[in-house]
Amino acid sequence: MAAIIRIKTKTPAPYPITAISVATHDTKTFRFALPENATLDMLPGDHLYVHTSINGKAVKRPYTPSSLPGTVGYFDLTIKRYETGVVSKYVHEQQVGDTVLMSGPNPGGHWVDGMAKKVGFVAGGTGITTMIAIIRWILTKRLDVELFLIFANKTEADIIFREEWDRDAREHPNFHCYHVLEHPPAGWTMGVGRVTGDLLRQRLPPPGPDTIVFLCGPPPMVEVLEGTLKDLGYPEEAVILP
Ligand SMILES: Cc1cc2nc3c(=O)[nH]c(=O)nc-3n(C[C@H](O)[C@H](O)[C@H](O)COP(=O)(O)OP(=O)(O)OC[C@H]3O[C@@H](n4cnc5c(N)ncnc54)[C@H](O)[C@@H]3O)c2cc1C
Repeated sequence: MAAIIRIKTKTPAPYPITAISVATHDTKTFRFALPENATLDMLPGDHLYVHTSINGKAVKRPYTPSSLPGTVGYFDLTIKRYETGVVSKYVHEQQVGDTVLMSGPNPGGHWVDGMAKKVGFVAGGTGITTMIAIIRWILTKRLDVELFLIFANKTEADIIFREEWDRDAREHPNFHCYHVLEHPPAGWTMGVGRVTGDLLRQRLPPPGPDTIVFLCGPPPMVEVLEGTLKDLGYPEEAVILP
């Protein structure tokens, strides 16, 4: 069997799209081909940069593979399209067979096995994309870690990978998931409105030597919740941003 090559590039390299699947009304998962004996050299939560040029100006944005690190032959990016977004709109215009320039992976707020026994995830909307590979990794490897996801969205239709989180909650007793919606449907039984300090206290593991919290979402949400987590007693080094 050929040895596995671990890919990491400083300069942008072209990756062909081999499949595109719909995650929500504005979010798709793009599958990119790697050589058949290659994997990305990354930890769960690390990101690549997508490079393009818009009106002659070079632009790049970070994206976190949602596929499991160690996957050989391909990787996935799950990307939300912003109507006024430069790079997200560019990627959504691509079709199977087109190539996208990317550099990396680069280290971000990633997971390292053994770093904690209790892990909170506070995600707002597309912020979940930075956490998908981490959650999948911990559950797939059956690590002795308890996971607590708080996932805030505007509406139920905005919840990325809803079925996966529901299935994980059913199949993995160590995975706890709580959705919060700004505009809930009739009969909604989980959280309503914004993520508050009270909600964090109820739904996250309390601060402790074996506890960390991943936080990612729209900048105003992250700014507020960083302060709230600090007030609740989580040390700065226990709160991990992408
Ligand atoms: C480490 C890291 C990893 C990331 N991984 C992913 C990923 O896997 N998938 C993914 O979809 N995104 C991810 N992002 C966000 C991504 O990098 C871009 O910021 C996003 O795609 C918007 O870029 P754009 O060029 O389309 O929009 P821009 O041209 O930069 O912004 C245009 C407008 O879009 C809106 N907008 C842009 N970003 C946000 C936001 N985060 N929240 C609310 N409104 C916003 C705003 O109205 C903004 O004015 C990640 C970000 C970081 C820092």
